[in-house]
Amino acid sequence: MSQERWAVIDCAKAPNSNCKLKMVVPEDRLEDLVEAACDHMCKRHNQEDNQETREMARGFIEIKEW
Ligand SMILES: [Zn+2]
Repeated sequence: MSQERWAVIDCAKAPNSNCKLKMVVPEDRLEDLVEAACDHMCKRHNQEDNQETREMARGFIEIKEW
């Protein structure tokens, strides 16, 4: 079986986060992950819904194969 590539955001790795949320999408749906992460960061981490938060979310993305 071939492995697939996944884009992962682990909120626990964000600075000052005690949040355990992990978000995963197939790599080709990376934009969905950015949007979901932005949404989460606004609701749970008092971030603004703007481009800066999206860029921050993008910075947390790790690509994994399994
Ligand atoms: Zn979080």
